[in-house]
Amino acid sequence: MKNVERTPQAVWEALKEGNERFIQYRAERPNQDPTRRYELRAGQSPRAVVLSCSDSRVPVEMIFDVGLGDLFVIRTAGEILDLAVLSSLEYALEELKVPMVVVMGHESCGAVKATADALDGGHIPSGLQRVLVEKVSPSILVAKSKGYNTIEDFEREHVIETVDQVISRSPVMQHRMATGDVGIVGLRYRLTDSVAETVITQGVE
Ligand SMILES: [Zn+2]
Repeated sequence: MKNVERTPQAVWEALKEGNERFIQYRAERPNQDPTRRYELRAGQSPRAVVLSCSDSRVPVEMIFDVGLGDLFVIRTAGEILDLAVLSSLEYALEELKVPMVVVMGHESCGAVKATADALDGGHIPSGLQRVLVEKVSPSILVAKSKGYNTIEDFEREHVIETVDQVISRSPVMQHRMATGDVGIVGLRYRLTDSVAETVITQGVE
């Protein structure tokens, strides 16, 4: 991400452009040269904080064609939230002053599928994996209450619910949104065509 102005809209545009290059096999792989590596010793100034699923098919920096020092990335299976995730997010917002938050789910998400199966009366994982199902379940129940029944719609609804949670559970996020200093988008990355499809936006267009 080269010389991008630190405003929510400018960063959002740059992310969309990077994804477009990735889709079209025109990736420039910026900010990975020796100069950049050397410069970064002095500190970081990422343009966005990204909460994404940990899935190996969703490498955040590659999807947006950015390099070192560009994104502050938090990844959990099913992009689920807890206090550790929220504290990392607030650190990025408050200390690093990132102007953009991205929540990214994806096509064929195992956490969403496992939760949908569990809610349909199937296997509920034991041990700590059970937390995954517990955290994703509310999103799927909301989706079903809206009449959605496909895995694709469950994945989208889970992104929307996660965006809502980021806002409602982080006072720093609320404050910085109110002053127009930060925008947030919810995306669903499609394995089929590499598009980070926009599910929801606030504070950017
Ligand atoms: Zn996933």
